[in-house]
Amino acid sequence: MLETERRKVVRYGRLLLERNLTTGTGGNLSVFNREKELMVISPSARDYQEIEPEDTVVMNLEEEVIAGSSRPSSEYQLHLLVYRERSDVSAVVHTHSVNATAVSCLNKEIPPLHYLIGFAGDKLPRAEYALFGTRELAENAVNALGSSYNAVLLDNHGLLAVGSSLQQAFQAAEMIEYVAELYVKCRSMGKPALLSEAQMKKVGEKFEAYRQGSSRKEN
Ligand code: 13P
Ligand code: ZN
Repeated sequence: MLETERRKVVRYGRLLLERNLTTGTGGNLSVFNREKELMVISPSARDYQEIEPEDTVVMNLEEEVIAGSSRPSSEYQLHLLVYRERSDVSAVVHTHSVNATAVSCLNKEIPPLHYLIGFAGDKLPRAEYALFGTRELAENAVNALGSSYNAVLLDNHGLLAVGSSLQQAFQAAEMIEYVAELYVKCRSMGKPALLSEAQMKKVGEKFEAYRQGSSRKEN
């Protein structure tokens, strides 16, 4: 069942480690098949190097396990709530990448210091702290994502990125971690000069075409 999606979750899970986007068994990822209304999610607390497609878990929107004998990621409610609330989203990547997580521990959003923040929107918003693996965290994150942001910081926890494919959500997580690193470096020297609202509006207009270009390689 959903063999292609299960293979993708395994492949991008390994990439999370290879690209230094998470540590140990931290983070999780999923893809949603909108036609079948089924999500494939990484298993909980498992080493990404050792996960095989059959270890991933298939769930429906009612939070029932449809296939897979592993325990689903503890953040399954977060992933499912994103799919319920955002019809433009078909993949979710959650990481504990170092720089994004460092900023999340300041409970600060990231302002538009570089145009690549466009992978999230006109800024990187933040979601109020809640315990990992809870519905409260899911609600806070979905509120912060709103109808248009593609990434949010989770206070004192990490980063959440979404996209219309795993390739897009992964790319958003990777690029936003880069912007977070820039932010940390800038703040260590002073205060970054920010792009204006008008400048970010133009970035937003140009970004859709840019993202579509890169997603042609996908799948
Ligand atoms: P899981 O291993 O259960 O996916 O949890 C990792 C995590 O990052 C929780 O927020
Ligand atoms: Zn986490």
